Parts: sequence; C-alpha cells; structure tokens
Amino acid sequence: MNSATFRERWGLLDFLEACRARGVQKAGLWGDDIKKVGVAKAASLMADYEVEAFGYNRAGPLLTSDASDRRKLLSMAKNEIDDAVAVGADHILVFPGGLEPDSKDLASARFQTVDAIGILHEHAQKVGMNLALEPLHPMLCGDRTCITTLRHANDICAQFAGKNIGVVVDTYHVWWDETIESEIARSALENSILSFHVNDWLVPTTHLLTDRGMMGDGIIDLHGIWKCVKATGYNGPVEVEIFSERWWNEDPDMVFDMALERCRQIFG
Ligand code: ZN
Repeated sequence: MNSATFRERWGLLDFLEACRARGVQKAGLWGDDIKKVGVAKAASLMADYEVEAFGYNRAGPLLTSDASDRRKLLSMAKNEIDDAVAVGADHILVFPGGLEPDSKDLASARFQTVDAIGILHEHAQKVGMNLALEPLHPMLCGDRTCITTLRHANDICAQFAGKNIGVVVDTYHVWWDETIESEIARSALENSILSFHVNDWLVPTTHLLTDRGMMGDGIIDLHGIWKCVKATGYNGPVEVEIFSERWWNEDPDMVFDMALERCRQIFG
C-alpha cells in the first residue's frame, strides 16, 4: 500500500497502524511524511509495526542549467537516497522534474536527466539502494519528467547495465502504450521491475494528478497488464497508489478495505 492513497487523511503513524491491522507488510512511503517524524524515529516505528518500507518517494527534481543549483539539487537527491537506506526501503523513485521555465529544449532535458541519473547511480551503488525509474504519462512531460515511456526507462537502465536500477510499472501511466507487453518483458530481462503500481484511468478524467480511479472503476485492463508482469517472473507486491480528491474525502479505513478487496478480485 502506498501512503499517498491516504495522504490528506493520515500521518505515518495512522497509516502504519492501518497496515498492521490488515496484515499489509510493505509500504510505499514519502520523504515529507518521514521527515515530519524524523528518519530514525520513522525507521523504529516501522520495525515496531512490522511494516517494511518498499518504494521511497523521491529523488528529484534534478534539472537546472545553473551549475551551483545543479550541485544543490544533486546533493539533496543524494540525501534522499541516504534517507531511503535509513528506513530500509527497497528502492527510491527518481523524478527529474519538467522543463525549466521558458525552456523548450526537451532534448537537453533528456540529456541532463541521464547525466544526473548517472551521478545518483554511483551514489546508489555505494550505499546499496536501487534507483527506480517510473515513466509518467506523457501529459506530465512538461512539469514532472521527460521519461514518459517504459521503452525510454528501459533504455536508460540499460546504460547502467541494469544494476541497482530498474523500472516501476504504474498502470495509470503506461496502459495506453502499444509496446507495453514487449517493454514489460524487456524490463525484466535486461533490468528489473521494482514495483507494480495500480489504480485506474477514469473517463472523463478531470485532473491529471488527483483524479485517479479505484481499481476496477476505469478503463485499464489491469488484469491483462498484471498477467504480462507476472509472466516475467515478478514476485513483488501489487502496490496500490491512488491520488484522488474523491477518495481522499472518504473514510480512509473504508478506502483501504475497498482497495484490498478490489486487488483480491483483479490480481488474486
Ligand atoms: Zn506510481
């Protein structure tokens, strides 16, 4: 379960309590929630509640044309990697950020992204953390990341020989891609699939970031994509990650139970 599903309602403690009550043992966590209680305290709470950190959000943004700002951003991203290690996370999500204000140079953003990932990758290898590249829907290319396809994420991972780096397959972001089957197979073969994020695409979608659907309420062939992921030998969790004003306004315990029930129906 990713804590963002309840981000407007629960802090870390409430979330861990809810995970423990339902026997959920792995959690996607956010650096800002962890920093509110302190990294060491968060790590000890997780041990107490027997919930392991899985994905850690996030390293980034990383892109700027100013050399001193760039050093600062990279240093902040390295600190986030260290915090991910401190809470025992399996991987850290890396999002380079969008184009700089007034820039139209997407090619340069892509080049800078790979360059910055290279620097973070060296650090990640040293401290034993996996960098997770999660392609986001192309409509987020301007302000979140220039990595918008699984193919691009796979191409970048391949440059680092697939060690301490892999991809996250989020159904919301890749369901529309006609190469999804072959690229999922390639992810597992050349790199690794670090997590499988689930939610749904509603029609109409009213907000790109905060109108994700509950699994089963939208048009994504979730079971079909899961079959492709499972066929690669992936044996990690199905990670529920729903950013939704609608669900944030509901009782979080009810949302948690409904999400688990939908997961049983679709992925069980
Ligand atoms: Zn995701």
